[in-house]
Amino acid sequence: MKFGAVRRLLAMSLLLIPLAGVQAGEVENLRLWAAPDHARLVFDLASPTQAQVFPLENPRRLVIDLDDSRMGADLEGLDLTGSAISRIRSGVREGSDLRVVLDLEREVAPRHFVLAPNDQYGHRLVVDLEYPGASAVEDPIDPIEAMIREQEIAAKRAQAQADLGGAAAAPEPETAVQRAQPHPKRDIIIAVDAGHGGEDPGASGPSGTNEKDVVLQIAKRLQQQVDAAKGFRAVMIRDSDYYVGLRQRTQIAREQKADFFVSIHADAFNSPRPSGSSVYALSQRGATSETAQWLAETENQADLIGGVDGNLSLKDKDEVLRGVLLDLTMTATLNDSLSIGGQVLDRLGRINRLHKPRVEQAGFVVLKSPDIPSLLVETGFISNPGEERRLRDPGHQEKMARAIFAGLEEHFRINPPPASLLAWQRDNRRSTAGNEYRIRPGDTLSEIATRHNVPVRRLKQANEINGDVIRVGQVLRIPRS
Ligand SMILES: [Zn+2]
Repeated sequence: MKFGAVRRLLAMSLLLIPLAGVQAGEVENLRLWAAPDHARLVFDLASPTQAQVFPLENPRRLVIDLDDSRMGADLEGLDLTGSAISRIRSGVREGSDLRVVLDLEREVAPRHFVLAPNDQYGHRLVVDLEYPGASAVEDPIDPIEAMIREQEIAAKRAQAQADLGGAAAAPEPETAVQRAQPHPKRDIIIAVDAGHGGEDPGASGPSGTNEKDVVLQIAKRLQQQVDAAKGFRAVMIRDSDYYVGLRQRTQIAREQKADFFVSIHADAFNSPRPSGSSVYALSQRGATSETAQWLAETENQADLIGGVDGNLSLKDKDEVLRGVLLDLTMTATLNDSLSIGGQVLDRLGRINRLHKPRVEQAGFVVLKSPDIPSLLVETGFISNPGEERRLRDPGHQEKMARAIFAGLEEHFRINPPPASLLAWQRDNRRSTAGNEYRIRPGDTLSEIATRHNVPVRRLKQANEINGDVIRVGQVLRIPRS
């Protein structure tokens, strides 16, 4: 990322402020980011300024009082679309203080904090309006589908525990009497994460293209691909221009019971030469290369720019996550990530130069999801003029999205989650051989075991069944007795 230009711009705009205005605080600019579950209003300030923020009823308003300040921003020009704010106005209070009033269309839980200057911005007052009860995603998944997925995760974790712990952790035999359940034929949920957003533009290209914009366009194309494929469904971590904290991104994916999480980015380097795509997975041990290490550090800094680092975010689930990270499922998840990563890289290699020939690994915060295989795709180098142009090109964006989807689709066709439509289709296509049995309505595991003269435990082991859930249409391998 190149910050020199931004700094110069900042220095110039400071020079343009009349001297008298420098003494009192001034709101130089206002920016608004509208997300499905909150809006963020950012005041760019000439100097650090304290504020009081409080709600008023009848009609519903939010008042923001700034000590010893004046309004230098154009309130009329601020686009309020998609936010809970219907109107914004300001006035002078007690001679020299500034009062900003937001007319609200719904109930909000406000919180505010000030931020010191960083590479991209000067002093800021951030006012977040959170919408109680609202979901962080536009179109949350069905609760029943979420429950089925939750059962699968629990079974998978129990399986991993049983694999390690041996007989002690093996399921009780009496669970084998439950009747076969109808097959849920659930969708495979793909969490599509467009990197950066809102205040955090990510990297930028020589002609001013922002990473946050091109990756959102690619993400939206990927969403269309996923939703158009039967048996798949996309959940967008962000679907327009606002910032989501790194840990909140994985949190949303977990809440939406995603089977896979893909974070889309564009690389930058301080030389225009490097080009090509790369694919990254999480590493718990250390980075596979110096570039991977450097990149992880750069991407992990996003929260500092977006202004929701650990100390400020109420939604930070770091502690929970750290604990769960030790979970046994992590290794299995990482293996899946690397496998899907290989498929995606292979497809990307057909449409673009590859910057790295293998799936690289480093400690990306955004990939730390213990239950969900996750990848970070650096689609190309936005710092390379040719690649910047391609990243903006709708045709190239479409090819990128297709390549990513083709890679993950291939993985899930071969390894569909048990309750998914794809698993049901696969089993239905199979013509069962003598050592296989297709489950019919009313079957129980113990009956099937008796009929084929094998112990229930062996039947379960051979089919990696944990607990008692069997499904109509599922094909069981019958081990030799
Ligand atoms: Zn990025």
